[in-house]
Amino acid sequence: VSDALNAAAAQSPSPFVTQEQKNSATRKRVVKDFHFGRTLGEGSYSTVIEATEISTEVVYAAKILDKRHIIKEKKTKYVTIERNVLHILKHPFIIKLHYTFQDTRSLYFIIDIADNGELLTWVRKFGGLSEKCSQFYLAELIVAVQYMHSRGIIHRDLKPENILLGKDMHILVTDFGTAKILNDSDPNHNESRTNSFVGTAEYVSPELLLDKPPEKSSDIWALGCIAYQLLAGRPPFKGTNEYQTFQKILKAEYEFPPHFSPAAKDLIEKILVLDPKLRLGSTNIQDLKDHIFFKGIDWENIINQTPPKIE
Ligand code: ATP
Repeated sequence: VSDALNAAAAQSPSPFVTQEQKNSATRKRVVKDFHFGRTLGEGSYSTVIEATEISTEVVYAAKILDKRHIIKEKKTKYVTIERNVLHILKHPFIIKLHYTFQDTRSLYFIIDIADNGELLTWVRKFGGLSEKCSQFYLAELIVAVQYMHSRGIIHRDLKPENILLGKDMHILVTDFGTAKILNDSDPNHNESRTNSFVGTAEYVSPELLLDKPPEKSSDIWALGCIAYQLLAGRPPFKGTNEYQTFQKILKAEYEFPPHFSPAAKDLIEKILVLDPKLRLGSTNIQDLKDHIFFKGIDWENIINQTPPKIE
């Protein structure tokens, strides 16, 4: 794919660009500004490829979406949401959208590269993380979620697959295609309730399964599922099929492995509560930060800390 992209870029007519425009950080980028390298991953509607900006040698990830495929599969709404949300969110723990452009065939999102892949891969590799590691990565995730909620964004699909790790091993939350922008002028605000399940079965909250409109507390539920998964190596609710998984979620039916510490159990028990109003952190995310499980976390300075070695 990258060979074809590079060839296409080389052949495309050179646009007239002055030196001044070339130097400008705000100049509109085009395909030929980048050299495309190895494939980083494939999504259902996208291919993610390493892309080096030729003038600066900065390495990014290019998320490339085939326009025809997106239109055919009726996914334009998700692409638009992802772009709009990424324009709003500017935070060190959230993937940054640097440039967008298109050619006749594809849309290009130039985003931060996550050199260390998905948190899920690390959780699988070690069959769960140490309490110290889980504490650190959950703390970073809480900081990211607090920020997005403060900007009126509900992620709706938080899971270890969507938590990427940068070169420095800090998190980069991604995949905002199914996010919700809490804004009354949003034309989808009153979208059909039966369409509100957009996430992933294992992390969906009980209230979303009961067709309630999405709230910030659904992200908090997912945080509880992720807390469990980081420590246990597997999500708390997993049936033999989606229906069985949903049944377990609706009863908040899960068990702790024997090695969970009392603090970890207490945190998860207080988050995985059926009533969203009673869920720890759902009215004030600070309540999560104050939980004993996070004792010792330097919340204000977490970005400047060296993440603990994953184990
Ligand atoms: P789907 O659309 O099927 O849900 P997805 O959301 O994972 O899949 P993408 O976001 O396009 O689809 O990502 C495809 C793959 O590329 C994933 O495996 C992901 O780990 C990888 N990837 C995505 N973004 C980056 C990035 N910024 N840096 C490195 N790898 C990335």
